[in-house]
Amino acid sequence: MERIAIFPGSFDPFTLGHESIVKRSLSMFDKVIIAIGYNSNKSGFFALEKRVNWIKDVFANEPKVEVTSYQGLTVDFCRSVNAKYILRGLRTAADFEYERAIAQVNKAMEGDIESVFLLTVPEHTPINSTIVRDIVRHNGDVSMFIPKGMKITKDDIV
Ligand code: ADP
Repeated sequence: MERIAIFPGSFDPFTLGHESIVKRSLSMFDKVIIAIGYNSNKSGFFALEKRVNWIKDVFANEPKVEVTSYQGLTVDFCRSVNAKYILRGLRTAADFEYERAIAQVNKAMEGDIESVFLLTVPEHTPINSTIVRDIVRHNGDVSMFIPKGMKITKDDIV
């Protein structure tokens, strides 16, 4: 059976930290679906379509990676694509506490689905989407925090 994982998140925007987690997970899974969870009442900082396309470009040459978006519960989305694993990244103890609650609730709702965590590499620990958004908002250069080739400017803000 194909081992399918989803990597859910808001990816607003996708960063080097996210890219690294996906690349490292590819030896464990046959397919990794990067899935942007969204809420139709709440637009992100960057448009959903833009976020999807940025990530598609990053993995254009990686046939094991798919990129999509979903609404509703992550476990429902997993079921709809036959994914048995939820991939998440951990940077700090604060991430652990947050992720622990989500993973335990997901497990209670859908016992067949396992959450799998990869610890970030030390150099990516301080990278997060919030900081990247702040830098973009103030016209700074974010190229060292996002995947190579990805271009973000202030004009991309919704
Ligand atoms: P969410 O809004 O669901 O927290 P994010 O887009 O912020 O979504 O993050 C998605 C996943 O990527 C989370 O598991 C988060 O902990 C992880 N992540 C975010 N930044 C990094 C990083 N620099 N290194 C490793 N994992 C990260």
